[in-house]
Amino acid sequence: MSSTTKIDQNAEYDAIVVGAGVAGLYQLYRLRELGLKVRSLDAAGAVGGTWYWNRYPGARVDSQSYIYQYWFSDELLEEWDWSERFPAQPETERYLNYVADKFDLRKDIQFNTTVKSAHWDAGRSRWLITTDQGDTFAARYFVSCAGMLSAPVALPFPGRETFKGQVAHTARWPQEGIDLAGKRVGVIGTGATGIQVIQTIASQVAELKVFQRTPQYAVPMRNDTYDDAARDAWRAKYPELREQVHHSFVGFDFDFETENYLDLSPEERKAALERIWADGSLRFWVGGFQEILTDEEVNADVSEFVRDKIRARVKDPAIAEKLVPYSYGFGTARVPLETGYYDAYNRDNVELVDVSETPIEGFTENGLLVGGKEYPLDVVILATGFDAGTGALSRMDIHGRDDRSLTELWRKDIRSTLGLQVHGFPNLFTVAGPLAPSTAFCNMATCLQQQVDWVTDCIAYLRKEGLKSIEPGAEKEEWWVQHHDETANATLMMTTNSWYTGANIEGKPRRLLSYIGGVDEYRKFCDEAKTSHYEGYAMS
Ligand code: NAP
Repeated sequence: MSSTTKIDQNAEYDAIVVGAGVAGLYQLYRLRELGLKVRSLDAAGAVGGTWYWNRYPGARVDSQSYIYQYWFSDELLEEWDWSERFPAQPETERYLNYVADKFDLRKDIQFNTTVKSAHWDAGRSRWLITTDQGDTFAARYFVSCAGMLSAPVALPFPGRETFKGQVAHTARWPQEGIDLAGKRVGVIGTGATGIQVIQTIASQVAELKVFQRTPQYAVPMRNDTYDDAARDAWRAKYPELREQVHHSFVGFDFDFETENYLDLSPEERKAALERIWADGSLRFWVGGFQEILTDEEVNADVSEFVRDKIRARVKDPAIAEKLVPYSYGFGTARVPLETGYYDAYNRDNVELVDVSETPIEGFTENGLLVGGKEYPLDVVILATGFDAGTGALSRMDIHGRDDRSLTELWRKDIRSTLGLQVHGFPNLFTVAGPLAPSTAFCNMATCLQQQVDWVTDCIAYLRKEGLKSIEPGAEKEEWWVQHHDETANATLMMTTNSWYTGANIEGKPRRLLSYIGGVDEYRKFCDEAKTSHYEGYAMS
């Protein structure tokens, strides 16, 4: 497609937004508020994004509800009541539907539509976007809010076609659900998702086989239910909370301890760890001692503290040892929260199958084959994760200036400027793109809203100045990539293989996908770009 491509006038937009989840809904709202003609596209059949797709048993938010929400409308903040500290998927999905209705967003969203390609038309400074529904849209701005954990990994095992049972990826869980009662179920994967599935279904199924390659350091979730008094208490804190989240390290309502771990006596250390552990949240990871992320000695200490907690929960010491991680330190990969996960292994109907040394060979007609042994199963649940950060965008076939391909670029080297734009791709905005805290070193609601606000301000600026396009200059991008790498390399995160470093996808270039300099620091860089009128960016 090129400048000569004829576009139906009805298919000309100021902006096309991809995604109708937490970020996409807000982006549509903000751009419409600016007076833009906007169309949103989503592959799903309804709003919700992550909370539409991930409807597997036990799916639950692990950021506190009263900070995992929108801040833009006081009315909404007053109207919506959260029922608990960490709401289950249906409640969060209901919330996003409520928002879509309240702000009449649905009329501008086209569901069941996947973007196939997006090509920059330099002659007319616009994006030409095609979809699997046969649409061709033209838009000045192309804003991806497609999510950083939305591209499920492809099935890694052969023989699925021979298997007579059912197979489901957690992120493509059927709308009608799967009846697991009385079935023989296998779960592959013990990340944050697998843990939620396993702890939820263990008591419902006849037999549960957990195929574990790498164990996790999971922290017990303390999930309080809220009554009116608790909700009022949260509401009374809104003015300070909506500020606090943007100034903390990870976008939560807590921050790291002010004292250094190494300055404390052994007794003080133990007491402090127990106190933070009892909070029952991600605080133990990203609101405890910052040295966990940077100091090997502290990390080793805290890792052993968590290992002891795991050992204390599992009756059979041999099984407990299999559930204890040794190959990496606590917090150097995403820490999951759990409720009854370790206790599930005390049940007679649950078996832990260690596939760390003997990998799963594939499916048979009746189940899964490991080391020549067949495990008969009726249902196989793939909790095998995502091509994170880059996957959703790479699958869209995006071509920028001079026909350069984003997929090709990121196949060699994952680069961006502030995680929001990429050199060579004018007017492409990548909310939750790689190299920003929003790739999962943040309470997502905080970071996504901050990024959407930045994109909106940038577009407002271009329109006010009569400019048609913006893209980060090569030097600007190099500065950000270098700063990102320096920050990442000063931590222990790069030492661990997980989706955080792209290690779960064969051939993916290794780089920490999330910026780890802190949400507050990141926001300052974003603010500077704006207040300097986008110095280092090319505009025309
Ligand atoms: P994940 O953390 O990438 O875990 C995937 C799991 O599948 C790992 O245990 C992995 O083992 C295993 N696996 C992959 N390929 C395998 C193979 N060939 N054989 C055996 N095992 C294999 O994915 P996830 O659990 O879906 O979580 C992704 C992220 O989603 C989380 O880190 C979190 O950020 C987010 N999440 C959030 C929530 C929440 O907010 N409540 C809930 C769920 C997920 P290895 O580790 O050995 O590769």
